[in-house]
Amino acid sequence: MPIGECHGRLASVIEQSLDCCPCCAYRTGCTTCPVCFWTDDGQRDADAGAVAGGPNGDISLSDAQLNFAIYGASHPRYVDVVRPPRSDELP
Ligand SMILES: [Zn+2]
Repeated sequence: MPIGECHGRLASVIEQSLDCCPCCAYRTGCTTCPVCFWTDDGQRDADAGAVAGGPNGDISLSDAQLNFAIYGASHPRYVDVVRPPRSDELP
């Protein structure tokens, strides 16, 4: 399942569902995702290539998604602070 597609597909069937992280797609529901350490600043796939310059600094959402695929974190500097997703956070 492509990242970002879980909205709507699962949100409608799971009660009290949390928001999907726009970067790793796990349903952590946090502003700063503990699984990939992306900070949700409202950026979504539509403008994923743009560097918003907010809490995520100089990386765009697509950069963060790529980093997560490679390093398991939205930025290599976060690899030591992220944690594995829990089973109830799976997209
Ligand atoms: Zn995440």
